[in-house]
Amino acid sequence: QISTGDMLRENISNKTILGNEVQTFMKAGELVPDSVILDMIKDRLLKNDCNNGYILDGFPRTIPQAEGLDQLLNNLNQKLNHVVVMDVADNLIITRLSNRRSCKCCGRVYNLIFGPPKIAGECDECNEKLYCREDDNPSTIQQRLNVFHEQTEPVINYYSKQGITKVIDSKGLIDEIKTDILSIIIS
Ligand code: AMP
Repeated sequence: QISTGDMLRENISNKTILGNEVQTFMKAGELVPDSVILDMIKDRLLKNDCNNGYILDGFPRTIPQAEGLDQLLNNLNQKLNHVVVMDVADNLIITRLSNRRSCKCCGRVYNLIFGPPKIAGECDECNEKLYCREDDNPSTIQQRLNVFHEQTEPVINYYSKQGITKVIDSKGLIDEIKTDILSIIIS
């Protein structure tokens, strides 16, 4: 699973040049420039762990990113098998994200309403303190949703034209959604 958001956050916490370049965009809920993302993905897809396939998470988020990915895949002689669209109403996204808490140590993600830790504020696995992502506050979440509707939603149509889009009703429980995603991936 390759998450561009996780890769960017790792760069920020390691204080790399890239991390420094992207943090203002992320804090404001804006997208990082396409060229930065495409360079990062280009390097990542060349790693050996991608040889047997991979799941791209949070990418592509714009039409230029989708076009850039097509070109990269062409060069690698690969193709996308499926594009999974997780359909969730904006108000549920706001509730989920503002209650999301993560462990900096092991990366496990909790939700204070739908999947809280056993001890408040502590990770079940490693007892580390949980933290709330800087962009998971109500106004930045709203901005990220605006950006999604403007710049990312058109990407769904881009892939629908290729006939590889599958929409999953994602208002339910994690395990139900996971089963639906896996059934698409392994089909
Ligand atoms: P995420 O972890 O997917 O919620 O992404 C968090 C933030 O990272 C986004 O709001 C953007 O600022 C940035 N980001 C992650 N993936 C991308 C992408 N594919 N294109 C542009 N910005 C991205």
